[in-house]
Amino acid sequence: AKSSGRGTYRLFDVAMHAQLQAHQQMKVAMRDALANREFELHYQPLVNLESRCVSCCEALLRWRHPQRGMIAPSEFIPIAEETGAIVLIGEWLLDEACRQAARWPERVSVAVNLSPVQFKHRNLVGAVANALSSSHLDPARLQLEITETVLLDESEHNLELLQDLRRLGVKIAMDDFGTGYSSLGYLRSFPFDKIKVDQAFVRDLPHGRESLAIVKAVAGLGQSLGMTTTVEGVETEDQLAIVNSEGFDEVQGYLFSRPLPAAEISRLIADGVL
Ligand code: C2E
Ligand code: CA
Ligand code: CA
Ligand code: CA
Repeated sequence: AKSSGRGTYRLFDVAMHAQLQAHQQMKVAMRDALANREFELHYQPLVNLESRCVSCCEALLRWRHPQRGMIAPSEFIPIAEETGAIVLIGEWLLDEACRQAARWPERVSVAVNLSPVQFKHRNLVGAVANALSSSHLDPARLQLEITETVLLDESEHNLELLQDLRRLGVKIAMDDFGTGYSSLGYLRSFPFDKIKVDQAFVRDLPHGRESLAIVKAVAGLGQSLGMTTTVEGVETEDQLAIVNSEGFDEVQGYLFSRPLPAAEISRLIADGVL
């Protein structure tokens, strides 16, 4: 038993080592990825439930690694945050997303996710202002999605930054609503333009009673606070029916479309499919 225990330990050790090595390799590869144009943005539509038209597209980052193929953001964004690479990547993607959105019809906005790490860098407001001015995009058509982590640490400083961003004329959305510890409290500290209910609450609809109660409550809350209400992760007609009857403004999910490359999403918008 003893020797097999040690064997297990060694196996674990080897696995850990491989994981560390992969982590390290990704860090190194990421240094050149931006210059080598390996990052791209895919866009997923948010559909307005009243007009049934696309009101916004969320920019979602993809890494097309020359050897490993497409890498999901959940795999590489934490590493980019750890090394600080997310700051430069974030500036690139703000430019790219605004340039792209300027080519869409005026009714279509673009949403960009901001990492809490970007708030630690002094040039965040400047980077957003630059992206707006070089693309000539109407600031009201740029939505910045933040999670409550941004308000959790350095909340005073970050609140000021949010206000500075707001003064540029952009919209601020609270993302992943309901997944954190005190999402509710944060609604009081900053007047968000939009709340996005996390897909975790939609996944077990229509049957999950708790999720249903929460989705209902958030719809009411958002409406009485005058915020646009959005639900992400809608995959079925049943889920859509609930979200619709609760009076949400927008939905996002595979039921309407997966995230698509810029050329494809632009074609769908131009053809009036979305
Ligand atoms: P998120 O901001 O909550 O984005 C929504 C995620 O849900 C996306 O995953 C999207 O593809 C996925 N999704 C959308 N509809 C459905 C659906 O109907 N069913 C299911 N199962 N999933 C759906 P993705 O693209 O893998 O992104 C994961 C996360 O990575 C994002 O979560 C966001 O936190 C982060 N991320 C993505 N792009 C960026 C970026 O440009 N900057 C930063 N800072 N974070 C990003
Ligand atoms: Ca998001
Ligand atoms: Ca989200
Ligand atoms: Ca989410």
